[in-house]
Amino acid sequence: MSEWSPEIERLRAREDEEWLRVQDNYCGRLLAYANRRTGDLQASEDIVQETLLGAVRGIDDFDRAFTFEQYLFGICRNRTIDYLRRRKAQTIQVGEDDSGFPGLEALAHSTDTPSAIVRGRELSSRARGLLGEILKEWVEETWEQGEFIRLCVIEALFSGGWRNRDTWKRFDLRDETAVAGIKFRAIKRLKQLAAVRESGNDLLRYLAAAEEGDHRLLDVDVRNVWREKRLSCPGRHWLARLVAGTLDEGPSLFVSFHLDEMKCPWCQANFDDLARRDADAELDVVMEHLRESTMKYLRPEGESAEA
Ligand SMILES: [Zn+2]
Repeated sequence: MSEWSPEIERLRAREDEEWLRVQDNYCGRLLAYANRRTGDLQASEDIVQETLLGAVRGIDDFDRAFTFEQYLFGICRNRTIDYLRRRKAQTIQVGEDDSGFPGLEALAHSTDTPSAIVRGRELSSRARGLLGEILKEWVEETWEQGEFIRLCVIEALFSGGWRNRDTWKRFDLRDETAVAGIKFRAIKRLKQLAAVRESGNDLLRYLAAAEEGDHRLLDVDVRNVWREKRLSCPGRHWLARLVAGTLDEGPSLFVSFHLDEMKCPWCQANFDDLARRDADAELDVVMEHLRESTMKYLRPEGESAEA
């Protein structure tokens, strides 16, 4: 089962079928995301409805530098925050997941471009793109090698901003230098991956500085790239296997760490969606409501889809 994503041109043409497919594919996880934060299914349904309508309205400005799922979740996150602010009489932590979606605030408001998002950072946007590619490659090869502890450690350091001291204790490593060693080897490998790429020069300089202990770089750029690009997010089928209890120990260690300790909001939403999918008939009713409202929006006259 590979991850489906819609054809943007068909969405822009307001094709009902493609929008309904969007709804069938993403509503469950959007609903799970909103419900986890609001604890209120009715409010969550409203949020998802607003999210879908916002997605239809904003699709002409969709920026292909992001995935469609990021686009949807960015809108959903803002609608959720709006809702929680309105309900602020209650002691809900609105800022609780603010760090979960770096850069998406701007995306959902669709006024800022990715270059505005990266403005003020050390790396040029091209170098950031390359950084994303080599990190992705590193994650993939580490996953294929079955080195899940290593993957957890690097995720904790790069994405979670953990200190070496906390990291070795969490993973029962020998001592702090074991963590430093894993980090050192990862950066070394990243340099190799950067070196074989065209125009990877400023990235190489950057990695060399990181290798010599300039952690400022790792703290800002790597963390943001790692999270924005969802570099370590397991595909939905891995989450499905975790839900079903059929995931092997290694990947299960990493996926659970990613969900429970890194608290990845995307994967949590997917996980919740998968976990309740079979059990929860209530969701079917909500899905049916959403389907009707989206159709009404797409076809104001109830007949044909007009642009
Ligand atoms: Zn994730």
